[in-house]
Amino acid sequence: MTARGPRLVLLGKQGAGKGTQAVRIAEHYGVHHLATGDLFREAAAAGTELGLEAKGYMDGGFLVPDDIVNGVVEEQLHASDRAEHGFVLDGFPRTREQAEELDRILGPFSLDLAIDLDVPTEVVLHRIAGRRVCAQCQAVYHLDNPPETNWTCDVCGGKVVQRDDDTQEAVMRRLELYEMKTLPVIQFYRRAGILAHVDASDETEEVFKRLVELVDSYFDPGARAL
Ligand code: ADP
Ligand code: ZN
Repeated sequence: MTARGPRLVLLGKQGAGKGTQAVRIAEHYGVHHLATGDLFREAAAAGTELGLEAKGYMDGGFLVPDDIVNGVVEEQLHASDRAEHGFVLDGFPRTREQAEELDRILGPFSLDLAIDLDVPTEVVLHRIAGRRVCAQCQAVYHLDNPPETNWTCDVCGGKVVQRDDDTQEAVMRRLELYEMKTLPVIQFYRRAGILAHVDASDETEEVFKRLVELVDSYFDPGARAL
């Protein structure tokens, strides 16, 4: 029996801290971090066909169509046996159809936990208004928490900028879409019996500790093979 890492989905509104926490959780458990939004932004920056198509939807705050997203996720999870070894999904699934598709993609390697990061809407609006990201590696900063030198990324030296879709209009649309399309995903995982909630309105470090406690209480790497 070989040890493996947890298979996790992080859910939560825009600005709940999914990206920030997903990076840390993936590092902590030594599993792959798969963020569909990051993938699309990287593809757009590289000017690939996929990226340019996705960018049109993203900049307006619309969802990228399921057939495109599902294909990318399937390819990513099948690479290097990630479905088997464990992963943290961030930004996927975002519709009930995507959640069903994920079950199909995973087959026997089913999810351990879907974690909903709870944050009041006033808090996420403040976080998104001040959010800045590294154009190169997607590390997340804030006007209240800038990189050490002159908006240059601490991790990779890239330029730290505002996302093209962090305009007020696109943010409102994404929050509406979240209510409409992603709340059913939460319901889906509640019924499956793998949903957990974490209060994510506190500072990053505190929320990270809560997440690790939660995952450790559900997931014993020595005891699970499949
Ligand atoms: P946010 O959660 O703030 O919207 P993301 O980086 O997760 O930011 O996603 C940015 C954009 O990428 C979304 O607004 C959407 O256009 C597209 N996208 C990302 N993931 C998905 C997905 N699972 N399904 C459809 N579109 C997606
Ligand atoms: Zn960077």
